[in-house]
Amino acid sequence: MTTTLYQVTRDVFCVQGTAVNWILVREGRDLTLIDAGYPGDTDALEASVRSLGHRVEDIRAVLVTHAHVDHIGALGRLHERYGIAALMHPDELPNALGQTHESATPADVARRAWRPSVLRWSLAITRAGATGHPVVPHARAYPDSGALDLPGRPQPLHVAGHTSGSSVYVLDSAGVVVTGDALVTGHPISAITGPQLLPDFFTLDPGRADAALDVLAGVEADVLVPGHGTPWRGEMATAVEHARRTAPRRLR
Ligand SMILES: [Zn+2]
Repeated sequence: MTTTLYQVTRDVFCVQGTAVNWILVREGRDLTLIDAGYPGDTDALEASVRSLGHRVEDIRAVLVTHAHVDHIGALGRLHERYGIAALMHPDELPNALGQTHESATPADVARRAWRPSVLRWSLAITRAGATGHPVVPHARAYPDSGALDLPGRPQPLHVAGHTSGSSVYVLDSAGVVVTGDALVTGHPISAITGPQLLPDFFTLDPGRADAALDVLAGVEADVLVPGHGTPWRGEMATAVEHARRTAPRRLR
């Protein structure tokens, strides 16, 4: 598979795998990884680390925005082979441990697969392992005490809606906010580009997902790095305003 690597700032890199992003934050020789692609993206994820001149062992921990299959695919191997921890909001642990499944079902996608864009995307993600339910037995909650002691000093913010324990991570000194699926900038099945919410059928609680935008609007950052779509430069209040204005034109 092919990946695209965006250098967002001097030390923040966004890598696009199978229509999903993972983010590498560099501090000296050390890295923080945010999200981990589909299971089928695992080799590409390791290759993206090496392409920056790093070893996979340089990853101090993986921060998870939420435990959907397209964001946790490589966690198993990273832990088994390299002993790398996976941290997330405590309310997301049941999803990671396989106790709950707050996600769209294959049937939700199949109902919409008469659209060529949805069909193409669903074939690509199926090849990448989208129908599996990886569990993350080693998942742990991040401490609830402000910025984390990890490269880039990521500051988690809880933004329930897409899932119960969805998080965004603010990289204050880089001026970056990593939003996962709480706010994206594009999707293969979306009719629009720019900051937007995902279609409702991907989202546990669309009302709370919309309310979470108020939290994001207050974040001070110059760049939004989403779970899906390309990095977007601008103020978060503007991003949120765009997401709300374009909501009726999303695919539902
Ligand atoms: Zn996603």
